[in-house]
Amino acid sequence: MTARILDGNVLSARVRGEIAERAAVLAAEGVQPCLAVVLVGDDPASAVYVRNKVAACDKAGIRSLRYDFPRDVAADEVMARIAALNEDPAVHGILVQLPLPPQFDEAAVLEAIRVDKDVDGFHAENVGRLSQGQQAFIPCTPHGVMKMLEAEGVPVQGAEAVVIGRSNIVGKPMAMLLINAGATVTVCNSKTRNLAAHTRRADILVAAVGRPRFVKADMIKPGAVVIDVGINRLTDGPDAGKLCGDVDFAAAKEVAGIITPVPGGVGPMTITMLLANTVESAARAAQARSQ
Ligand code: NAP
Repeated sequence: MTARILDGNVLSARVRGEIAERAAVLAAEGVQPCLAVVLVGDDPASAVYVRNKVAACDKAGIRSLRYDFPRDVAADEVMARIAALNEDPAVHGILVQLPLPPQFDEAAVLEAIRVDKDVDGFHAENVGRLSQGQQAFIPCTPHGVMKMLEAEGVPVQGAEAVVIGRSNIVGKPMAMLLINAGATVTVCNSKTRNLAAHTRRADILVAAVGRPRFVKADMIKPGAVVIDVGINRLTDGPDAGKLCGDVDFAAAKEVAGIITPVPGGVGPMTITMLLANTVESAARAAQARSQ
């Protein structure tokens, strides 16, 4: 059996079209959705991510503001910019591109962003709200994964879901979303004993490890839904320089029922959900203004 490929580019294009329509309606009502992006330093990967986010905003009719700081900037200067953006009613979302240089206390920076402009969903209050099943901004990558499962009609309630990885950005919020949706969830990490015994039980397997082709075909239950969050650049072998996921895609697609490719799977959905969160924030601001 060959798995159905869950194409993140196709789904993204559709969802971004809906987001653009919502943004246009808000703009016509006098609320132009606006995302402010803060980039510190010259990390090439971060620069690419920021460029892609800004370009995606432009295409969806979301205004974007970019604030670039040199690597050795004083942390206070960036905190002052965040404080000003917090107070600016024209700004609906604030994103600080991670990682930050060592002079920053990353957690303090994330806490400095106003909860109702925290479109990355990393503020402790949004994390807490998510864990309580309350309305919150949901971190974009796991939010995108849930959107993919929903679009494919994957039954989550009652499913055995296994998440490999427990980061604050992907693994933990992913597990929380699956729990909220009624799955029975196992979260694995680098210390997990007999990882394959867990993964082979999974109806839904999410890999967020950061290790190329780590999940092998024999770790997957036949017919499972396999979501590959990993983005790794291969450094050697015939595919050196190419991107690949955390799943051994070529072999895994012969076992899985549905699988996401890398590139072109979860990646595009991450940016899409950032746009969705920004427009949602603008909609809430518009509603508050009209009350
Ligand atoms: P991370 O912070 O490095 O976390 C990796 C997790 O994998 C950790 O919890 C780690 O366990 C676990 N792990 C490592 N080796 C393992 C092993 N042998 N067995 C089981 N678990 C193991 O990475 P991240 O930020 O979550 O990102 C994960 C991947 O997703 C990366 O490739 C990243 O580039 C990608 N990513 C993609 C998107 C997207 O838009 N598609 C967005 C964000 C991240 P410990 O906690 O025990 O160390």
